[in-house]
Amino acid sequence: MRLSRYFLPTLKENPAEAQIVSHRLMLRAGLVRQASAGIYSWLPLGFRVLKRIEQIVREEMDAAGCHEVLMPTIQSADLWIKSGRYNDYGKEMLRIRDRHDREMLYGPTNEELITEIFRSEVRSYRQLPRNLYHIQWKFRDEVRPRFGVMRGREFLMKDGYSFDVDFESARKSYDAMFVAYLKTFRRMGLTPIPMRADAGPIGGDLSHEFQIVAETGESAVFYDTDLVELIEQGELDADRLKSLYAATDDKHDPKTCPVPPERLGTARGIEVGHIFYFGTKYAEPLGATVTDADGNQVPIHGGSYGIGVSRLVGAIIEAGHDDAGIVWPESVAPFKVGLINLKADDPATTAAADGIYDRLRGSGVPVLYDDRDERAGAKFADMDLIGLPWQLTVGPRGLKGGVVELKRRAGGERNELSIDAALARLCG
Ligand code: ATP
Ligand code: MG
Repeated sequence: MRLSRYFLPTLKENPAEAQIVSHRLMLRAGLVRQASAGIYSWLPLGFRVLKRIEQIVREEMDAAGCHEVLMPTIQSADLWIKSGRYNDYGKEMLRIRDRHDREMLYGPTNEELITEIFRSEVRSYRQLPRNLYHIQWKFRDEVRPRFGVMRGREFLMKDGYSFDVDFESARKSYDAMFVAYLKTFRRMGLTPIPMRADAGPIGGDLSHEFQIVAETGESAVFYDTDLVELIEQGELDADRLKSLYAATDDKHDPKTCPVPPERLGTARGIEVGHIFYFGTKYAEPLGATVTDADGNQVPIHGGSYGIGVSRLVGAIIEAGHDDAGIVWPESVAPFKVGLINLKADDPATTAAADGIYDRLRGSGVPVLYDDRDERAGAKFADMDLIGLPWQLTVGPRGLKGGVVELKRRAGGERNELSIDAALARLCG
């Protein structure tokens, strides 16, 4: 992509309305613009990141044996009245009336609708277990939308739902999601800490929030530092990880906390995912039953599994930035390489930079090419701000010695290399 033709409105100044670093950087780097309170438009660069995060989530869900569907954003109130949540949800639910005066709503989540889909099609335990998910926009009329896409009113969520014939089988489905979530967040360069969360009226230990440590997190979190070490080492054994202590402030009690003070980490956390076994809570009121192996009609045991896809864009920036701007992990970066032409009005430099651009594109490397006729300082500042993993700078002085400069955004180390060597590094 040539920057001279791209739509990338960057800002030099910090926008006054943004209180936390990820929100400031998302506005400054031209990723999003606010449309109204808690509702955002995604601009080209931000949209590319959102899509890449979505794709990682999708790949890990598919790898765990889940099946993608797409349910609508607008739902009829009927099923919600049946489940009892139409009243319980209160003002967070956006209610709409259509022209026939029918009550509709913009979905804040999808337990009712997916249970209904299941109920109409599935009869026997032989068709279980199943896990269906979708990645769809949600609306929750949050009291205090804030921090940009972190707490929006309209936001993109992956929500998945498991269906099992009994508790034992549901626990297996739950653990499979527990592991899939660890893999998903780790692929985004994050350290997700699974924390035991409120399981609601059913009780039990099958509810975990996945929290990312960041200064600007909304809740205080407390955890065994051994747990974080295990996660960083790539441990994926659900039972082992679940046995180590981690809790958010609403569950943590210093009096009963089993972790010795020297091993108790305290920080603030951003909730990027939540998994939850809810038993027959929806199956019963909605009549979703199957015949079990003995021929009895039994309600389906369900679990729901959410990931804040749009919130993750902010969370990844909170976890990866410096004074100059965003530092994207390669797995979600909007482009892998930022190519800088230092002297766009010099034909020899431009010919060399154009040639590199063509070769990178020819090798399928996503590259943003700063071919604008701008000051070098402004180009470097923009490139640092938008945080692409690699910066390749082509200037007349280097070219005389046959070299270009390759900089890694994370860590900042620079190397002068021949064009061929630089391309070999980037195309590998
Ligand atoms: P929170 O406690 O942050 O309000 P929640 O418990 O309401 O979250 P869930 O219903 O479990 O959230 O939704 C699944 C995921 O969707 C959350 O883990 C979070 O990452 C994301 N999410 C929830 N509300 C919002 C929001 N208002 N804006 C952006 N993402 C959100
Ligand atoms: Mg909420």
